[in-house]
Amino acid sequence: MKNKRLVMIPGPTPVVRSIQDQMGRETVAFGDPDFVKDYRELIGDLKALWETQGEVFVVAGTGTLAMEMAISNTTKKGDRVLVVSHGYFGDRFIDLCEGKGLEVDVLRSEWGEIVPLEEIEKQLKEKTYQAITVTHVDTSTGVAAPVEAIGALMKDFEDTVYIVDGVCATGAEPEKVDAMGIDVLFTGSQKAFGVSPGIALLWAGPKALRRRESLGRIPEFYVDFDKWLPIMHDPSKYFATPAVNLVWAMKESVRIMKEEGLENRYARHQKVAKAMQKALMGLGFTLLAREGHRATTLSNLIYPQGIDDGKFRSILAEEGIIVAGGLGAYAGRMFRLGHMGNIDMHDLVSVLATIERALYRVGYPVELGSSVGTFMKEMMV
Ligand SMILES: *Cc1c(COP(=O)(O)O)cnc(C)c1O
Repeated sequence: MKNKRLVMIPGPTPVVRSIQDQMGRETVAFGDPDFVKDYRELIGDLKALWETQGEVFVVAGTGTLAMEMAISNTTKKGDRVLVVSHGYFGDRFIDLCEGKGLEVDVLRSEWGEIVPLEEIEKQLKEKTYQAITVTHVDTSTGVAAPVEAIGALMKDFEDTVYIVDGVCATGAEPEKVDAMGIDVLFTGSQKAFGVSPGIALLWAGPKALRRRESLGRIPEFYVDFDKWLPIMHDPSKYFATPAVNLVWAMKESVRIMKEEGLENRYARHQKVAKAMQKALMGLGFTLLAREGHRATTLSNLIYPQGIDDGKFRSILAEEGIIVAGGLGAYAGRMFRLGHMGNIDMHDLVSVLATIERALYRVGYPVELGSSVGTFMKEMMV
């Protein structure tokens, strides 16, 4: 018998039936009154749930498009940007910004560590930056940045727009746009929202919108806030065709979030992450992210001595569990396991059991059932 396949990579994450059903609906015209109403409600909900007096943008695209949207609407050629990087996705801003003719300074941590707050503060005092970028959860390292503490710091730096990449965090890690001093927050549909890939979401606070205004005409077309604002205010208008079925899917995802309650959702992610990480460490894996700044959305697990990454992951895949490999220097030494979004408790137990079986099959000494037991005990507390 073939097992059901579980996609446990850090995005796309498992898509629940009710969300799949929205994507399977008959597609309607983007001007369809019922669709326009749904789109408008989604925009309103996103603004309210992430608490901004600013604007929200829901456009067809991925997280990377949202990165580009964030930078394009807040900086112009020759501006200075401070990139705080805790890994691969933090680094992605460097290339993106340099390509746009921005002057980029980088504060980079060792993988698994964070850049200390004092270092960020010191750098911000040294030069005036038009923007700073911080990746909330860097998917390559499983490190969560102290987004709120950095936001508190930013209050002293009026000229700097605070951009947070929430692609592997938003909907799982606590975020409040205005209250945390965030000026731009963005994510993609396929991570903690639990929708298929294809929607880019971006929140822009008042300061980011003022910055956009001050820039006048910008070179970019599709990602220009000014092109989308009339649509976000009145979704019956047209700029570029909305991803109709994905908008519905996002709406269902937000309905699920409202039903669960965002605070409960954040608490659930914390509990699940702690339990999964304890269970996996008990099997002999080491977490790349240091304690104190571990993400709740995924675990980056360094193999114990003697385990062949390719073999281990192909056994998992054979049994129906798809996980991701390590990036950069950790390719071959680590695997990455997502546990965010609308993840199912049955699935998590099954994932742990399958990891145990895979370890057993590669000849690693494992007491079958041990991680499942640890996980269940943690979840019962
Ligand atoms: C996945 C990811 C991205 C890129 O998003 P895409 O949807 O793949 O374009 C950017 N930043 C972080 C932190 C991510 O995890």
